[in-house]
Amino acid sequence: MAPGGGVWKEVFESYPKFANHDIAMPKLEKSTTPVKNIVGVGEKHGMPLSNSVHELLVCPVCSSLMYRPIHQCPNGHTICSDCKSRVHNCCPTCRLELGNIRCLALEKVAASLELPCKYPNCHDIFPYYSMLKHEQNCRFRPYNCPYAGSECSVTGDVQTLVRHLKDDHKVDMHDGCTFNHRYVKSNPHEVENATWMLTVFNCFGRQFCLHFEAFQLGIAPVYIAFLRFMGEDFEAKKFSYTLEVGSDGRKIIWQGVPRSIRDCHRKVRDSHDGLIIPRNMALFFSGGDRQELKLRITGRIWKEK
Ligand SMILES: [Zn+2]
Ligand SMILES: [Zn+2]
Ligand SMILES: [Zn+2]
Ligand SMILES: [Zn+2]
Repeated sequence: MAPGGGVWKEVFESYPKFANHDIAMPKLEKSTTPVKNIVGVGEKHGMPLSNSVHELLVCPVCSSLMYRPIHQCPNGHTICSDCKSRVHNCCPTCRLELGNIRCLALEKVAASLELPCKYPNCHDIFPYYSMLKHEQNCRFRPYNCPYAGSECSVTGDVQTLVRHLKDDHKVDMHDGCTFNHRYVKSNPHEVENATWMLTVFNCFGRQFCLHFEAFQLGIAPVYIAFLRFMGEDFEAKKFSYTLEVGSDGRKIIWQGVPRSIRDCHRKVRDSHDGLIIPRNMALFFSGGDRQELKLRITGRIWKEK
């Protein structure tokens, strides 16, 4: 189902632009030994490319860097532990039986090295065995596509994903920090066919995803609206937002903090971190004969001082 279908009223307000260069860099992990070798992966730190050591640490089967335990065959051919469990105990290089021989010398060489992070915007250098963990949590690693309606495998930085949402998912893009959005659905009794919509807001020079979706809370059909921030969690916490829904002098107000898109939409939904509207109340707010959902959700995003 295509997102949108809402009627929009834009209210433009001027806010100071969010400066993007005051972000604190994560602390560089200090190593215990004073002088270390750096395995140059692409010479991005201007260090000499130590090709021979690097080659020794690359698994001949999967071509990734090897981590402890590193195994070897009786002839000395090395293999990573993941691949070892896949090759049925037969050395892929010489076909000899692998057995269970650790290559402790190479493991120790690796422990004495430091590596630059593989993400181009990250300037951190880490001890060899800490790098994998760092790269899994590096704030410069790509984001997953925030689109909720399908399993989308596209990843990238925020600008790439904004373009992707617009071009490939036809998501509505809006400028401004206040919004007034109408959600209309002709048959609101089909909650199982998860109704969901996504709108992207540009404000303070950053992007926010407004999610609206139907789901089953226990046995009760409900709707939820929440905001996700296209960036890291520590930046998301600098913003707040409100959402309001109602009619005829009644309303429910939610005030919250946007979640980072590092948290998938399902996780946010299942933690109930948003404006939850029971379906009966949503139909009451819609007026009429309860056959059509007509919700007006207004909201505002602001930056905390
Ligand atoms: Zn391997
Ligand atoms: Zn071998
Ligand atoms: Zn990094
Ligand atoms: Zn996508």
